[in-house]
Amino acid sequence: MTAPTTSRSEHYDVVVVGAGIAGITAACYLGRSGIRTLLLEKEDKPGGLVGSFIHEGFTFDSGIRAFENSGIVYPMLRDLGIDIHACKSTVSVGIASHMVKITVQEDIGSYADMLSAVFPNLKTYVHELF
Ligand SMILES: Cc1cc2nc3c(=O)[nH]c(=O)nc-3n(C[C@H](O)[C@H](O)[C@H](O)COP(=O)(O)OP(=O)(O)OC[C@H]3O[C@@H](n4cnc5c(N)ncnc54)[C@H](O)[C@@H]3O)c2cc1C
Repeated sequence: MTAPTTSRSEHYDVVVVGAGIAGITAACYLGRSGIRTLLLEKEDKPGGLVGSFIHEGFTFDSGIRAFENSGIVYPMLRDLGIDIHACKSTVSVGIASHMVKITVQEDIGSYADMLSAVFPNLKTYVHELF
């Protein structure tokens, strides 16, 4: 019996296990340097915690909600020639029917106010925290 033929090479210099952002990044840079790289992923799609899934008609983040502008991700995407449209993400914090939007740093005061409103017996501690 002969082994099945495949058009893909069976020989790699590096095998990266896991196609999350770390594995994809490593594989991109390895491949770009001419190193024969195999990227393996156990799930149906790559991305790992940087992704989303649909459950009962609702889309959920798999993990990451937003990239903080720490100066790494966008320069790296540019360097790899990847053009992705990003939109500003603001954080909303909700407890029961109360909701505040944290858009600028000063909005953290509204969060303290909400906590005080929801937990009036903890008001003193809340204001010590903020
Ligand atoms: C709830 C939550 C919220 C977060 N929010 C933020 C945020 O807002 N901002 C932020 O910057 N970061 C956030 N993070 C952190 C960020 O998501 C992770 O640091 C980052 O995505 C990790 O990437 P990774 O590639 O290292 O791992 P992962 O994304 O975990 O990728 C690992 C990959 O390896 C695969 N794998 C595992 N074992 C095998 C195997 N044996 N064979 C083949 N494949 C395998 C997995 O399926 C997966 O695709 C959050 C994390 C969580 C859990």
